[in-house]
Amino acid sequence: MSGLITLNPEIRDAIVESGGEDVIKCYQCGRCMAACPWNFLEALNYTTYRFCQRIRLGAIIESEEKEAIAVDTIDVFRCVGCDSCKHECPRGVSLSDVLRAVRRILVEYDSYPSELKSVVSRLYNTGNPLGEPSESRADWATDLKVEQFDAATHEYVYFPCCVPAYDQRARKVAQATAKILKKAGVQFGILGKEEFCCGEAVRRVGAEKVFQTAVKHNTEVFAKAGMSKVITTSPHCYTTFKNEYPEYYNNIDALHATQLFAQFMSQKKIAPKKPFHKTVVYHDPCTLGRQMGVFEEPRDVLKSIPELKLIEVPVFNREYSICCGGGAMGLWRDWPQDERLANLRTEQILETGAEIIAVACPYCLQMFEETLKTMNVDIPVMDVAEILYESLAE
Ligand code: SF4
Ligand code: SF4
Repeated sequence: MSGLITLNPEIRDAIVESGGEDVIKCYQCGRCMAACPWNFLEALNYTTYRFCQRIRLGAIIESEEKEAIAVDTIDVFRCVGCDSCKHECPRGVSLSDVLRAVRRILVEYDSYPSELKSVVSRLYNTGNPLGEPSESRADWATDLKVEQFDAATHEYVYFPCCVPAYDQRARKVAQATAKILKKAGVQFGILGKEEFCCGEAVRRVGAEKVFQTAVKHNTEVFAKAGMSKVITTSPHCYTTFKNEYPEYYNNIDALHATQLFAQFMSQKKIAPKKPFHKTVVYHDPCTLGRQMGVFEEPRDVLKSIPELKLIEVPVFNREYSICCGGGAMGLWRDWPQDERLANLRTEQILETGAEIIAVACPYCLQMFEETLKTMNVDIPVMDVAEILYESLAE
Protein backbone atom coordinates (compact mmCIF):
# COMPACT_ATOMS: atom_id res chain seq x y z
CA MET A 1 0.00 0.00 0.00
CA SER A 2 1.26 3.53 -0.59
CA GLY A 3 0.20 7.13 0.07
CA LEU A 4 -0.52 9.06 3.21
CA ILE A 5 -3.09 7.95 5.73
CA THR A 6 -5.20 9.79 8.26
CA LEU A 7 -5.26 8.31 11.73
CA ASN A 8 -8.64 8.39 13.47
CA PRO A 9 -10.09 7.46 16.87
CA GLU A 10 -10.16 3.76 16.04
CA ILE A 11 -6.44 3.87 15.61
CA ARG A 12 -5.82 4.95 19.23
CA ASP A 13 -6.07 1.41 20.57
CA ALA A 14 -3.76 0.19 17.83
CA ILE A 15 -1.14 2.76 18.91
CA VAL A 16 -1.45 1.71 22.54
CA GLU A 17 -1.16 -1.94 21.52
CA SER A 18 1.91 -1.17 19.41
CA GLY A 19 3.80 0.02 22.48
CA GLY A 20 2.28 3.46 23.08
CA GLU A 21 0.69 2.62 26.43
CA ASP A 22 2.51 5.52 28.14
CA VAL A 23 0.03 7.97 26.56
CA ILE A 24 -2.32 7.20 29.45
CA LYS A 25 0.17 8.58 31.99
CA CYS A 26 0.74 12.03 30.47
CA TYR A 27 -0.95 15.02 32.12
CA GLN A 28 0.40 17.64 29.69
CA CYS A 29 2.68 19.44 32.12
CA GLY A 30 5.04 20.39 29.29
CA ARG A 31 8.36 19.49 30.95
CA CYS A 32 9.23 17.26 27.99
CA MET A 33 9.04 20.24 25.68
CA ALA A 34 11.59 22.16 27.74
CA ALA A 35 13.90 19.12 27.75
CA CYS A 36 13.62 18.17 24.08
CA PRO A 37 16.72 19.31 22.18
CA TRP A 38 14.71 20.23 19.08
CA ASN A 39 13.31 23.15 21.05
CA PHE A 40 16.82 24.48 21.68
CA LEU A 41 16.84 25.36 17.98
CA GLU A 42 15.37 28.79 17.27
CA ALA A 43 13.77 27.60 14.04
CA LEU A 44 11.56 25.02 15.74
CA ASN A 45 8.62 24.73 18.06
CA TYR A 46 8.31 21.00 18.67
CA THR A 47 5.21 20.61 20.81
CA THR A 48 6.09 17.30 22.43
CA TYR A 49 3.60 17.75 25.27
CA ARG A 50 0.72 17.49 22.81
CA PHE A 51 1.54 14.06 21.39
CA CYS A 52 -0.05 11.96 24.13
CA GLN A 53 -3.24 14.00 24.30
CA ARG A 54 -3.64 13.91 20.53
CA ILE A 55 -3.20 10.15 20.50
CA ARG A 56 -5.73 9.75 23.30
CA LEU A 57 -8.18 11.70 21.16
CA GLY A 58 -7.25 9.63 18.12
CA ALA A 59 -6.08 12.81 16.44
CA ILE A 60 -2.35 12.38 16.07
CA ILE A 61 -2.75 13.34 12.44
CA GLU A 62 -5.58 15.84 12.56
CA SER A 63 -6.13 16.90 9.00
CA GLU A 64 -7.05 15.20 5.78
CA GLU A 65 -5.11 17.83 3.82
CA LYS A 66 -1.95 16.37 2.34
CA GLU A 67 0.23 19.32 3.38
CA ALA A 68 -0.99 19.26 6.98
CA ILE A 69 -0.54 15.51 7.14
CA ALA A 70 2.99 15.91 5.84
CA VAL A 71 3.78 18.36 8.67
CA ASP A 72 2.36 15.98 11.29
CA THR A 73 4.28 13.10 9.77
CA ILE A 74 7.51 15.11 9.93
CA ASP A 75 6.89 15.71 13.64
CA VAL A 76 6.25 12.02 14.31
CA PHE A 77 9.49 11.07 12.55
CA ARG A 78 11.57 13.95 13.93
CA CYS A 79 12.13 12.39 17.37
CA VAL A 80 15.64 10.92 17.65
CA GLY A 81 14.79 8.72 20.64
CA CYS A 82 17.23 10.52 22.93
CA ASP A 83 15.05 10.18 26.06
CA SER A 84 15.83 13.67 27.38
CA CYS A 85 12.06 14.05 27.77
CA LYS A 86 11.68 10.77 29.66
CA HIS A 87 14.44 11.82 32.03
CA GLU A 88 12.49 14.98 32.94
CA CYS A 89 8.95 13.61 32.79
CA PRO A 90 7.34 13.36 36.24
CA ARG A 91 5.28 10.41 35.03
CA GLY A 92 8.14 8.57 33.30
CA VAL A 93 6.47 8.78 29.89
CA SER A 94 8.68 7.49 27.08
CA LEU A 95 7.75 9.71 24.16
CA SER A 96 10.24 7.87 21.99
CA ASP A 97 8.28 4.65 22.57
CA VAL A 98 4.96 6.43 22.05
CA LEU A 99 6.14 7.91 18.75
CA ARG A 100 7.64 4.59 17.73
CA ALA A 101 4.20 3.06 18.16
CA VAL A 102 2.70 5.68 15.83
CA ARG A 103 5.53 5.13 13.37
CA ARG A 104 4.86 1.40 13.29
CA ILE A 105 1.40 2.11 11.93
CA LEU A 106 2.61 4.73 9.45
CA VAL A 107 5.39 2.43 8.22
CA GLU A 108 2.88 -0.38 7.86
CA TYR A 109 0.97 1.92 5.49
CA ASP A 110 4.16 2.97 3.72
CA SER A 111 3.51 6.53 4.88
CA TYR A 112 6.95 7.65 5.98
CA PRO A 113 9.86 9.78 4.73
CA SER A 114 11.46 8.51 1.54
CA GLU A 115 15.03 8.87 2.85
CA LEU A 116 14.11 6.49 5.69
CA LYS A 117 12.45 4.07 3.27
CA SER A 118 15.71 3.81 1.33
CA VAL A 119 17.68 2.92 4.46
CA VAL A 120 15.11 0.38 5.63
CA SER A 121 15.10 -1.21 2.20
CA ARG A 122 18.92 -1.36 2.03
CA LEU A 123 19.05 -2.94 5.44
CA TYR A 124 16.44 -5.53 4.56
CA ASN A 125 18.18 -6.44 1.31
CA THR A 126 21.82 -6.42 2.40
CA GLY A 127 21.84 -6.71 6.20
CA ASN A 128 23.26 -3.24 6.74
CA PRO A 129 21.95 0.32 6.32
CA LEU A 130 24.76 1.26 3.94
CA GLY A 131 23.77 -1.37 1.38
CA GLU A 132 27.25 -2.90 1.32
CA PRO A 133 27.81 -6.58 0.48
CA SER A 134 28.02 -9.01 3.39
CA GLU A 135 31.14 -10.56 1.77
CA SER A 136 33.14 -7.45 2.67
CA ARG A 137 31.80 -7.09 6.20
CA ALA A 138 35.02 -8.39 7.77
CA ASP A 139 37.38 -6.41 5.52
CA TRP A 140 38.14 -4.04 8.39
CA ALA A 141 39.89 -6.94 10.13
CA THR A 142 42.16 -7.86 7.23
CA ASP A 143 45.76 -7.84 8.47
CA LEU A 144 44.74 -7.93 12.13
CA LYS A 145 44.61 -11.73 12.38
CA VAL A 146 41.19 -11.64 14.01
CA GLU A 147 39.67 -15.09 13.89
CA GLN A 148 36.16 -16.24 13.05
CA PHE A 149 34.38 -16.87 16.37
CA ASP A 150 34.77 -20.41 17.68
CA ALA A 151 32.99 -21.18 20.97
CA ALA A 152 35.62 -23.81 21.80
CA THR A 153 38.41 -21.24 22.02
CA HIS A 154 36.81 -17.80 22.23
CA GLU A 155 34.98 -16.26 25.16
CA TYR A 156 33.55 -13.24 23.34
CA VAL A 157 32.19 -12.20 19.98
CA TYR A 158 33.28 -8.70 18.99
CA PHE A 159 30.41 -7.08 17.06
CA PRO A 160 31.74 -3.89 15.41
CA CYS A 161 28.34 -2.48 14.16
CA CYS A 162 27.60 -1.77 10.51
CA VAL A 163 29.18 1.69 10.37
CA PRO A 164 32.64 0.67 11.68
CA ALA A 165 32.48 -2.51 9.59
CA TYR A 166 32.15 -0.60 6.31
CA ASP A 167 32.88 3.10 6.69
CA GLN A 168 36.55 3.81 5.95
CA ARG A 169 36.92 6.32 8.81
CA ALA A 170 34.91 4.39 11.40
CA ARG A 171 36.80 1.18 10.59
CA LYS A 172 39.72 2.62 12.54
CA VAL A 173 37.58 2.38 15.68
CA ALA A 174 36.91 -1.32 15.14
CA GLN A 175 40.61 -1.86 14.40
CA ALA A 176 41.72 -0.01 17.56
CA THR A 177 39.20 -2.00 19.61
CA ALA A 178 40.41 -5.35 18.26
CA LYS A 179 44.02 -4.38 18.97
CA ILE A 180 43.18 -3.39 22.56
CA LEU A 181 41.33 -6.67 23.10
CA LYS A 182 44.37 -8.54 21.85
CA LYS A 183 46.71 -6.57 24.11
CA ALA A 184 44.49 -7.38 27.08
CA GLY A 185 44.62 -11.08 26.20
CA VAL A 186 40.89 -11.43 25.51
CA GLN A 187 39.91 -14.57 23.62
CA PHE A 188 37.52 -13.25 21.00
CA GLY A 189 36.39 -13.78 17.44
CA ILE A 190 34.06 -12.11 14.97
CA LEU A 191 31.06 -13.34 13.01
CA GLY A 192 32.27 -11.63 9.84
CA LYS A 193 29.98 -12.01 6.85
CA GLU A 194 27.43 -13.81 9.04
CA GLU A 195 26.67 -10.55 10.89
CA PHE A 196 23.47 -8.69 10.16
CA CYS A 197 22.63 -5.25 11.55
CA CYS A 198 21.34 -5.50 15.15
CA GLY A 199 18.21 -3.70 13.91
CA GLU A 200 18.01 -0.96 16.54
CA ALA A 201 17.59 1.88 14.08
CA VAL A 202 14.87 0.17 12.03
CA ARG A 203 12.99 -0.66 15.21
CA ARG A 204 13.20 2.99 16.37
CA VAL A 205 11.90 4.19 13.05
CA GLY A 206 8.92 1.83 13.27
CA ALA A 207 9.94 -0.83 10.73
CA GLU A 208 9.18 -3.64 13.14
CA LYS A 209 8.99 -6.39 10.52
CA VAL A 210 12.50 -5.57 9.31
CA PHE A 211 13.70 -5.56 12.91
CA GLN A 212 12.22 -9.03 13.33
CA THR A 213 14.10 -10.13 10.20
CA ALA A 214 17.35 -8.88 11.74
CA VAL A 215 16.61 -10.65 15.03
CA LYS A 216 15.81 -13.91 13.25
CA HIS A 217 18.97 -13.80 11.19
CA ASN A 218 21.26 -12.84 14.07
CA THR A 219 19.82 -15.19 16.66
CA GLU A 220 20.13 -18.14 14.26
CA VAL A 221 23.77 -17.20 13.70
CA PHE A 222 24.35 -16.73 17.45
CA ALA A 223 22.77 -20.11 18.25
CA LYS A 224 24.74 -21.92 15.54
CA ALA A 225 27.98 -20.33 16.77
CA GLY A 226 27.15 -21.03 20.42
CA MET A 227 27.76 -17.40 21.31
CA SER A 228 26.82 -16.01 24.73
CA LYS A 229 28.96 -12.91 25.31
CA VAL A 230 29.20 -10.00 22.93
CA ILE A 231 31.34 -6.85 22.99
CA THR A 232 29.97 -3.90 21.04
CA THR A 233 31.42 -0.66 19.74
CA SER A 234 28.02 0.92 19.20
CA PRO A 235 25.81 1.81 22.17
CA HIS A 236 22.89 1.05 19.85
CA CYS A 237 23.97 -2.59 19.38
CA TYR A 238 24.73 -2.70 23.11
CA THR A 239 21.27 -1.67 24.28
CA THR A 240 19.59 -3.88 21.68
CA PHE A 241 21.54 -7.04 22.55
CA LYS A 242 21.32 -6.32 26.28
CA ASN A 243 17.68 -5.28 26.58
CA GLU A 244 15.80 -6.50 23.52
CA TYR A 245 17.40 -9.69 22.18
CA PRO A 246 16.92 -11.71 25.39
CA GLU A 247 13.23 -11.90 24.47
CA TYR A 248 14.27 -13.94 21.42
CA TYR A 249 17.64 -15.46 22.47
CA ASN A 250 18.16 -15.76 26.18
CA ASN A 251 21.78 -16.89 26.13
CA ILE A 252 23.27 -13.45 25.54
CA ASP A 253 25.08 -10.89 27.63
CA ALA A 254 26.42 -7.68 26.13
CA LEU A 255 29.11 -5.22 27.14
CA HIS A 256 30.02 -1.91 25.61
CA ALA A 257 33.72 -1.75 24.73
CA THR A 258 34.34 1.13 27.16
CA GLN A 259 33.07 -1.00 30.05
CA LEU A 260 35.55 -3.70 29.19
CA PHE A 261 38.39 -1.20 28.75
CA ALA A 262 37.69 0.19 32.23
CA GLN A 263 37.77 -3.36 33.62
CA PHE A 264 41.12 -3.99 31.91
CA MET A 265 42.50 -0.90 33.62
CA SER A 266 41.38 -1.91 37.09
CA GLN A 267 42.63 -5.47 36.53
CA LYS A 268 45.92 -4.04 35.23
CA LYS A 269 45.62 -6.01 31.99
CA ILE A 270 46.59 -2.89 30.08
CA ALA A 271 48.32 0.28 31.20
CA PRO A 272 48.40 3.41 29.04
CA LYS A 273 51.94 4.79 29.06
CA LYS A 274 52.39 7.06 26.09
CA PRO A 275 51.41 10.65 27.04
CA PHE A 276 48.51 12.25 25.16
CA HIS A 277 49.17 15.99 25.47
CA LYS A 278 45.69 17.17 24.59
CA THR A 279 42.62 18.71 26.17
CA VAL A 280 39.79 16.31 25.48
CA VAL A 281 36.05 16.83 25.89
CA TYR A 282 33.91 13.72 26.20
CA HIS A 283 30.45 13.72 24.60
CA ASP A 284 28.01 11.29 26.28
CA PRO A 285 26.06 9.40 23.62
CA CYS A 286 22.36 9.36 24.65
CA THR A 287 22.12 5.61 24.32
CA LEU A 288 25.24 4.76 26.30
CA GLY A 289 24.75 7.43 28.97
CA ARG A 290 21.18 8.50 29.69
CA GLN A 291 19.66 5.22 28.48
CA MET A 292 22.20 2.63 29.69
CA GLY A 293 23.77 4.50 32.62
CA VAL A 294 27.35 4.15 31.36
CA PHE A 295 28.80 7.53 32.30
CA GLU A 296 31.96 6.85 34.25
CA GLU A 297 33.73 4.05 32.39
CA PRO A 298 34.62 6.10 29.28
CA ARG A 299 35.76 8.93 31.56
CA ASP A 300 37.80 6.53 33.72
CA VAL A 301 39.56 5.26 30.59
CA LEU A 302 40.36 8.79 29.41
CA LYS A 303 41.48 9.92 32.88
CA SER A 304 43.95 7.04 33.07
CA ILE A 305 45.86 8.29 30.01
CA PRO A 306 48.98 10.24 30.95
CA GLU A 307 48.87 14.00 30.27
CA LEU A 308 45.33 13.86 28.87
CA LYS A 309 43.26 16.69 30.30
CA LEU A 310 39.59 15.74 30.39
CA ILE A 311 37.04 18.55 30.38
CA GLU A 312 33.23 18.61 30.29
CA VAL A 313 30.57 20.47 28.37
CA PRO A 314 29.18 22.75 31.10
CA VAL A 315 25.72 21.65 32.33
CA PHE A 316 24.97 19.52 29.26
CA ASN A 317 27.00 16.46 30.24
CA ARG A 318 26.15 12.98 31.53
CA GLU A 319 22.33 12.64 31.78
CA TYR A 320 21.92 16.18 30.41
CA SER A 321 23.95 15.49 27.27
CA ILE A 322 22.37 16.70 24.03
CA CYS A 323 21.82 14.23 21.19
CA CYS A 324 24.17 14.43 18.19
CA GLY A 325 21.05 13.95 16.04
CA GLY A 326 22.07 10.51 14.76
CA GLY A 327 19.54 8.38 16.67
CA ALA A 328 16.46 6.76 15.14
CA MET A 329 18.09 6.98 11.70
CA GLY A 330 18.83 10.67 12.15
CA LEU A 331 22.21 9.78 10.69
CA TRP A 332 20.49 9.42 7.34
CA ARG A 333 18.19 12.46 7.56
CA ASP A 334 18.91 15.63 5.66
CA TRP A 335 17.50 18.50 7.72
CA PRO A 336 17.91 22.18 6.75
CA GLN A 337 20.97 23.83 8.35
CA ASP A 338 18.94 25.58 11.05
CA GLU A 339 17.24 22.30 12.04
CA ARG A 340 20.31 20.21 12.84
CA LEU A 341 20.88 18.92 16.34
CA ALA A 342 24.46 18.13 15.33
CA ASN A 343 25.15 21.84 14.81
CA LEU A 344 23.72 22.69 18.21
CA ARG A 345 25.77 20.02 20.00
CA THR A 346 28.95 20.74 18.05
CA GLU A 347 28.73 24.43 18.97
CA GLN A 348 28.34 23.54 22.66
CA ILE A 349 31.38 21.29 22.40
CA LEU A 350 33.50 23.84 20.54
CA GLU A 351 32.78 26.45 23.22
CA THR A 352 34.74 24.30 25.69
CA GLY A 353 37.94 25.03 23.77
CA ALA A 354 38.87 21.32 23.67
CA GLU A 355 41.49 20.14 21.20
CA ILE A 356 39.92 16.71 20.71
CA ILE A 357 36.28 15.57 20.81
CA ALA A 358 36.02 12.09 22.34
CA VAL A 359 33.04 9.90 21.52
CA ALA A 360 31.96 6.34 22.23
CA CYS A 361 29.45 5.79 19.42
CA PRO A 362 29.96 5.47 15.65
CA TYR A 363 26.90 7.63 14.95
CA CYS A 364 28.25 10.51 17.07
CA LEU A 365 31.63 10.15 15.34
CA GLN A 366 30.08 10.50 11.92
CA MET A 367 27.65 13.28 12.87
CA PHE A 368 30.38 15.44 14.44
CA GLU A 369 32.93 14.87 11.69
CA GLU A 370 30.42 15.81 9.00
CA THR A 371 29.26 18.86 10.95
CA LEU A 372 32.79 20.12 11.62
CA LYS A 373 33.48 19.88 7.89
CA THR A 374 30.45 22.03 7.09
CA MET A 375 31.59 24.50 9.76
CA ASN A 376 35.11 24.52 8.34
CA VAL A 377 36.54 23.72 11.75
CA ASP A 378 39.53 21.41 11.97
CA ILE A 379 39.27 19.56 15.28
CA PRO A 380 39.74 15.79 15.45
CA VAL A 381 36.92 13.58 16.65
CA MET A 382 38.21 10.33 18.12
CA ASP A 383 36.57 7.31 19.67
CA VAL A 384 37.71 6.46 23.22
CA ALA A 385 39.16 3.24 21.76
CA GLU A 386 41.38 5.19 19.35
CA ILE A 387 42.72 7.48 22.07
CA LEU A 388 43.34 4.54 24.36
CA TYR A 389 45.11 2.56 21.68
CA GLU A 390 47.39 5.51 20.86
CA SER A 391 48.46 5.59 24.46
CA LEU A 392 49.13 1.83 24.52
CA ALA A 393 51.10 1.76 21.28
CA GLU A 394 54.81 1.07 21.66
S1 SF4 B 1 6.68 15.68 30.67
FE1 SF4 B 1 5.56 13.72 30.66
S2 SF4 B 1 3.59 14.19 31.67
FE2 SF4 B 1 4.53 16.17 31.12
S3 SF4 B 1 3.64 16.65 29.06
FE3 SF4 B 1 5.59 15.59 28.69
S4 SF4 B 1 5.04 13.40 28.48
FE4 SF4 B 1 3.29 14.46 29.45
S1 SF4 C 1 13.11 11.32 22.80
FE1 SF4 C 1 14.39 13.17 22.54
S2 SF4 C 1 13.87 13.94 20.48
FE2 SF4 C 1 12.23 12.50 21.08
S3 SF4 C 1 10.65 13.82 21.97
FE3 SF4 C 1 11.94 13.06 23.66
S4 SF4 C 1 13.48 14.66 23.97
FE4 SF4 C 1 12.54 15.04 21.96
